[in-house]
Amino acid sequence: MKFELTILGCGSAVPTVQRNAAAQVLNVLERYFLIDCAEGTQQQLRRFHVPYNKINHVFISHLHGDHFFGLIGLISSLSMQGRRGELHVYGDSRLKEIIDFQLKLMNCKLNYALIFHPLTREPALIYEDKSVTVYSFPLKHRYDAPVCGFLFSEKERERTIIRDMAEAFQVPVAFMHRLKKGEDFVTPEGEVIANSRLTVAPPAPRSYAYMTDTLFREEFAEYVKGVDLLYHESTYGDAYAELAKETFHSTATQAARIAELAGAKRLLLGHFSARYPDPTPLLEEARSFFPCTDLCYDGAVFEVRQEGRKI
Ligand SMILES: [Zn+2]
Repeated sequence: MKFELTILGCGSAVPTVQRNAAAQVLNVLERYFLIDCAEGTQQQLRRFHVPYNKINHVFISHLHGDHFFGLIGLISSLSMQGRRGELHVYGDSRLKEIIDFQLKLMNCKLNYALIFHPLTREPALIYEDKSVTVYSFPLKHRYDAPVCGFLFSEKERERTIIRDMAEAFQVPVAFMHRLKKGEDFVTPEGEVIANSRLTVAPPAPRSYAYMTDTLFREEFAEYVKGVDLLYHESTYGDAYAELAKETFHSTATQAARIAELAGAKRLLLGHFSARYPDPTPLLEEARSFFPCTDLCYDGAVFEVRQEGRKI
């Protein structure tokens, strides 16, 4: 039951020899979600052995080139390779105009349905299936580029019945679905059997949040309360805090403060300025506020493990 993030690019505005611009893939229970799609993402998908044909949903944070210039290439290649299944793209409403215009100019008819889902400036549930939800929420970048963060979460699973115990207390088959939901069982004699004696709690649902490119605002932490793994941009270090503000970006320390305020379990830093060939100083700055911090690098894989719990 995987919950695994692969970093395809953790650079910022321009790609460097060490780092591609923004893109990553989140595998949640074999659903492959592509998050941002900078130029060169197709090569990174191949380089890091991501089964890109399994990507059915693409989330674009905002319309700056380092986050979506690779999208038309990916859309086109998937068609050339004979894709038939739908591809869903979530992003700024103008993204549809851009892609439609490019496809029209190229006289390109896709083999598959390309379905756009415009993001709003309000927090919203944008994807849901039986096991997973995805929410978008507004962050703050330049006025010409409304930006959204994303929160990917597993749904709470049902409890597992302890068969021997259920049989011992003669729980009727018709009551089993209520046991799975956590109800206590009352015997015909009126004895209350606590649900915890009859079932085992499911593992805690796992979650991942993506926050880039954004100014630091304390209140943004509210969107990602208790998240297991948080990716937050840290374009600059403390020495460039003013520049971060002017360019509507965050520093590593600010990323750490968001993680701390949110009660995140682990923080990943990324979207590094090209001025940091080695972003280790940013890691040190962040860790002084939030010790459980790591640096992203292209090809890095981060797993959120399933943890049992007793309830
Ligand atoms: Zn960017």
